Amino acid sequence: MSHQQQIAVIGGGVIGVCTAYFLAHAGHQVVVIERLSNVAEKASFGNAGVVAPGYVMPWATPGMPKKILASLFRTDGPVLLKPTFDRAMWRWVRQWLAECELDRFRVNKERMQRVASYSRLVLQQLREHHRLDYEQSRGYLQLFRSEQDIALAQPALELLAEQGVAHRPVDAEQARAIEPALSAHTPLAGGLYLPDDESGNCPLFTKQLKNLAQEMGVEFRFGSTVSAIETQGQRIGMRIGEQVFNVDAVVIAAGIDSARLLAPLGIRVPLYPIKGYSATATIRNFDEAPQAALMDESYKIAITRMGGRIRIAGMAELGSVSNDLHEAALRTLAKVGEDWFPDAANYSTASYWSGIRPMLPDGPPLLGATPIRNLYLNIGHGSTGWAMAAGCGLLLADIISGRKPDIDMEGLTLARYARMP
Ligand SMILES: Cc1cc2nc3c(=O)[nH]c(=O)nc-3n(C[C@H](O)[C@H](O)[C@H](O)COP(=O)(O)OP(=O)(O)OC[C@H]3O[C@@H](n4cnc5c(N)ncnc54)[C@H](O)[C@@H]3O)c2cc1C
Repeated sequence: MSHQQQIAVIGGGVIGVCTAYFLAHAGHQVVVIERLSNVAEKASFGNAGVVAPGYVMPWATPGMPKKILASLFRTDGPVLLKPTFDRAMWRWVRQWLAECELDRFRVNKERMQRVASYSRLVLQQLREHHRLDYEQSRGYLQLFRSEQDIALAQPALELLAEQGVAHRPVDAEQARAIEPALSAHTPLAGGLYLPDDESGNCPLFTKQLKNLAQEMGVEFRFGSTVSAIETQGQRIGMRIGEQVFNVDAVVIAAGIDSARLLAPLGIRVPLYPIKGYSATATIRNFDEAPQAALMDESYKIAITRMGGRIRIAGMAELGSVSNDLHEAALRTLAKVGEDWFPDAANYSTASYWSGIRPMLPDGPPLLGATPIRNLYLNIGHGSTGWAMAAGCGLLLADIISGRKPDIDMEGLTLARYARMP
């Protein structure tokens, strides 16, 4: 085993907590620096909970630009885009458009799937080892409302077959055999069932893992904001308030705020905020509720069973970093709930939430070393951070400990942007 290091993880979201857990497991002395008063309070709080490596997808897919353009003219579309001259947004959109080509999509999807499949395995091992219960369910059903949406999914379906991922195309009747409460009144052109994919309550898991990490000696410093990273010879420093704390290594896992910490060091990452929304409603009629996780592919909105509650989550609002709740987004979430499970819950009394996805234009996260000695990244997980968290935590711990990671890191590091100063 490598020698014990003193390591700071910046960010107590699901990514930071998983990283801290595995670093402690590898024998290091770990501190998590978190600005807020608990773990999983930002993007990791109200997400859809889907852990679906079978269908993990870049948002940059062939046909998506056209679909988004068409949806902008609808009042219930899944994308919200205010007319703006924000140069950062248009630069990101340009990079994203280039990644929508079929060959780029295939490369990006394989990279994401490599991480997510590994991560599901690590998550399952953690769950079994610690006997965790975080409202998990098994199976994932994609719903296609139209033939056009089935056609859009073709490139992804071809890859599923090539990669040997268990999946089963289903018609409307078969979809209702899987989810008996699925409404027959909403038109359904077809579905796709992924029996091995899962879902679960991300903040519940994160809190349980935090407790386990604490038992292993990880220190959580809440209410502390890192304002800058400073290099100090062999050591690396973090400025918190008036003080600088030196450690052997720092892992940045600060979600959307990671780019701001990296920019002064000359490391520019195309991380862009894409806001999403969720509605969580208490189930009032269990016979009419979903049993596991579903995805309305036409609206790109997930419906997940979380114990006695249903969560409906999705939407993409470009560029917003505020917690404001956009009325149109909430209406669309409620509509999707009403369309598929009308008698399961009273959606008008749901609790609503918004969070910021830390999105990169191509899709895979950025993991591992940086040009700054002893500074590491675990960032850019976009819309699939919960699905990738356990695996990415273990990958970082292996890299920092000088062990060979379990998966090939090709395309998952800063090298793919070739922007090292
Ligand atoms: C609507 C929605 C639905 C989603 N659905 C899914 C899904 O079904 N499946 C899935 O896998 N993913 C999903 N995601 C994505 C997933 O939630 C994110 O990828 C994941 O939570 C990112 O985790 P994180 O730890 O990187 O970020 P965060 O959870 O945002 O954590 C970052 C932490 O860093 C802290 N921080 C930031 N800067 C500093 C600083 N300078 N000093 C100290 N602390 C700092 C913040 O306070 C925060 O707690 C969804 C996201 C949204 C918004």
